[in-house]
Amino acid sequence: MCGIVGYLGNGIAQESLIDGLKRLEYRGYDSAGVAFHEGNKFSMARETGRVKNLAEVVQKKSSSSSLGIAHTRWATHGAVTVSNTHPHRSHDGKFVLVHNGVIENFSPLKKFLKGKGIQFTSETDSEVLCNLIAFHYAESPKSEERFVDAVRLALPQCRGAYGIAVLCLDKSDVLIGARRGSPLVVGLGDDANFIASDASAFVGRAKEAVFLNDGELAILRGRDFRITTLEGQEAQAVSHPVDQISEEVELGDFDSYMEKEIFEQPTALKNTLRGRFGDDGTTSKLGGLEGHEDELRDLDRIIFVACGTARHACMVGEYLIERLARVPVEVEHASEFRYRNSPNAGKSLVIAVSQSGETLDTLEAVREAKTKGLLTLGITNVVGSSLARETDGGVYQRVGPEIGVASTKAFSSQACLCAMLGLALGRMRDLSPMDGQAVVEALNGLPDLVAHVLQQAEQIRELAVKYSKAEHLLFLGRQSLYPVALEGALKLKEISYAHAEGYPAAELKHGPIALINPDCPCIFMVEGTELSAKTIANMQEVKARKGQVLAIAPEEIEIPDEAADDIFRLPVAHEVVRPILANLPLQLFAYHFARLRGLDVDKPRNLAKSVTVE
Ligand code: GLU
Repeated sequence: MCGIVGYLGNGIAQESLIDGLKRLEYRGYDSAGVAFHEGNKFSMARETGRVKNLAEVVQKKSSSSSLGIAHTRWATHGAVTVSNTHPHRSHDGKFVLVHNGVIENFSPLKKFLKGKGIQFTSETDSEVLCNLIAFHYAESPKSEERFVDAVRLALPQCRGAYGIAVLCLDKSDVLIGARRGSPLVVGLGDDANFIASDASAFVGRAKEAVFLNDGELAILRGRDFRITTLEGQEAQAVSHPVDQISEEVELGDFDSYMEKEIFEQPTALKNTLRGRFGDDGTTSKLGGLEGHEDELRDLDRIIFVACGTARHACMVGEYLIERLARVPVEVEHASEFRYRNSPNAGKSLVIAVSQSGETLDTLEAVREAKTKGLLTLGITNVVGSSLARETDGGVYQRVGPEIGVASTKAFSSQACLCAMLGLALGRMRDLSPMDGQAVVEALNGLPDLVAHVLQQAEQIRELAVKYSKAEHLLFLGRQSLYPVALEGALKLKEISYAHAEGYPAAELKHGPIALINPDCPCIFMVEGTELSAKTIANMQEVKARKGQVLAIAPEEIEIPDEAADDIFRLPVAHEVVRPILANLPLQLFAYHFARLRGLDVDKPRNLAKSVTVE
């Protein structure tokens, strides 16, 4: 969570920092702040609410400093107040620090520092780290390396996760960053260098990006920089060109990133699919799996680890992979997997899925899997992310930056990649060339089918208007449409704050049916198989109890008039792409439902895009 950006250069820091924060705001938007090194003091501005509040204040104050750090917060320790807003300043005024993550042992550290007479002005764990650095600095003998040494002494005392950027009043040309658990990247430009939580903060300003590994420190001094370990050994700095993604993150004609990203899905999926099929047209070819063919052919089990929407995409994958490749699949909440004593006997493959590639629960699950000697693969959208770097192999989603906090295009591409993985594994095992070819054709046809469904967006908007007064909704589906039901409910909860739950359609009668009344609409996803008759019977059960039913159903399935109040039709499609198609109206439904309530769909309350705390 939270966005960090630091600037050290020849120009004026202010504009780059505020611009960087705006680009990082999706990571947290409780409050925002900035600190500038002004020679003999730090000037600071901190405001609760959005970055634009801070920008107005900073513009009025107008600093000409060329060294500064900034932060947009997703509060973990302490309420959303100005005093808890970063940057934090040490008690002696010598240091300012921004922090992403959680210092789990902040309490004993704070007690220790209080015992030394140090006063605190916030409730945050981050201020403790700032003062711990100040404490070590005060204790260290004077030397050129004193600032770096103080950081190196303080960090090993901290448990938990951090990405930090820190300034020292005595050093007007030094910016230090460090990470463990939370992402941090150095940006190298002609006029300035940067430290940020992700490279989007300095797109257009830096040419090269150097991703830090856990336990590394970035020391920016004047126009130089170096990466070392916490222990002081030089570390390798591998630089990557910063993608010129600026136009992709502009809103264009759309009202919100969520809407833009929903409508980008045909193009996004084309990019996910491009060049990823074998020449014989019967299988998929995923570069990141190369070199692992023998292990993949010989698997006993796949365990997906993911959180939130990505986990729902994995659950779609569970149905598809078991169907195509006949490999047993389990889907775990990443946060649960890590702490479970799960028996990992046999040849298990762990596949971790995270759009940002920085979801800490997922990364920790990968680390745990690796300590148990399991093969790990990653599915992520962000090139060079921690997930991409820490897994044994993997596949990029290639859908461009997803800025809306509620994930949309990332889900579609993750589910699509799960289908491609199922196809590849299936063809390595017992899937016939003919069945493989049918899947390849279905996947290649997916972007057009998605475009076709999105053309009917107005019908969904009208349905959202009709149901917009509901405070409780149920989403129901069977088989691979069950995770779609979960995802539909999650999307609605996330952005409209209405209460929604997803269930397998047949589970309705085992409990949730008690909720049915005219004010609790049920949204049913109907399969394109013979199972549809059973789902339609479940719809009838709701109607018999005076509930309202909205059915999302393929064109070829006949639905009796009395079984549904409204029907949204999906095109005829192969089973591997049906879950992706069925999810599209649910994305649009949630979007319009929330907009009708006047809510900001891109920045729903309490949420943040990239969840880098456990
Ligand atoms: N734990 C810190 C706080 O609550 C940092 C949270 C964040 O990552 O934004 O201020």
